[in-house]
Amino acid sequence: MKLINGKEISKKTKDAIKAEIEEIRKTGKRVPKLAVILVGDNPASQVYVRNKEKACTYVGMESLRINKDATLSEEELLKLIDELNHDDGVDGILVQLPLPKTIDEEKVLKAIAPEKDVDGFHPANIAKLFLNEEGFIPCTPYGMMVMLEEIGYDLDGKEVVVVGRSNIVGKPVALLALHHNATVTIAHSHTKNLQEVTSRADVLIAAIGKAKFFTADYVKEGAVVLDVGMNRDENGKLCGDVDFDDVKEKVSAITPVPGGVGPMTIAMLMKNTLLSYKRRVQ
Ligand code: NDP
Repeated sequence: MKLINGKEISKKTKDAIKAEIEEIRKTGKRVPKLAVILVGDNPASQVYVRNKEKACTYVGMESLRINKDATLSEEELLKLIDELNHDDGVDGILVQLPLPKTIDEEKVLKAIAPEKDVDGFHPANIAKLFLNEEGFIPCTPYGMMVMLEEIGYDLDGKEVVVVGRSNIVGKPVALLALHHNATVTIAHSHTKNLQEVTSRADVLIAAIGKAKFFTADYVKEGAVVLDVGMNRDENGKLCGDVDFDDVKEKVSAITPVPGGVGPMTIAMLMKNTLLSYKRRVQ
């Protein structure tokens, strides 16, 4: 069994970005800049935002963190986004989710200029992904494709089963696999005989948010398993949707949790921000 080391692949990706930014810096041009808006004091969101800032520092990118109280109105947030949309020095705008219940998330995500939407959540970027045109690919699905590429796995003609159909993970990763010529099945909570469906998969993508749900019975011999889940097990330890110990002898390659898909997400955010910069500046 091969362990797909997300930490290592993420570092490699970030190091390549860092080298590019060093080159940009040498030319005397401004470097890429990511604006991150955090509304309220959700502790998990604070950790995510801090990690994104750390990644910016690592690759030599500028980061602009905007903290607002949970009392911020929707109108004020939309105004702030509008200002960043028009700020030529900002390449990427990210609004950390979830937002306070008083604010309409969908409206906010739609307000971000598509050409600065480095999370890839704007409908215009989703449409581009659907059409296999260049926009911004959502970071977690993008990271999974990079991982497969890194281990030299070609999806062409393979059976891919994605379990989970969220807009940020399941649906976009299924589209990406389809664009790579895989035969794709999307399963969800209404799927009948899930075990039978997942047992067909050459590549199983688990994105349901249920600790250690996928045991060896769900997995085909020699399958590649990408585990997106971030859950706590019965001892409060971080774990994936896949029962790693149960499947490890059966699979040919698997991403661990932690240290798998998770670290790739931030690396791809850096990649998207650099891409935005290049489109805008060069
Ligand atoms: P959502 O909660 O939005 O979606 C979960 C999906 O799983 C739904 O489509 C749901 O089906 C399906 N589902 C739930 N239970 C079952 C079941 N028993 N059998 C089959 N399908 C089921 O989750 P997200 O996509 O946002 O996240 C999924 C997991 O990935 C979470 O653990 C999350 O923390 C993690 N995550 C990790 C990231 C990373 O960077 N590593 C980034 C984003 C998410 P239905 O639609 O029918 O309700």
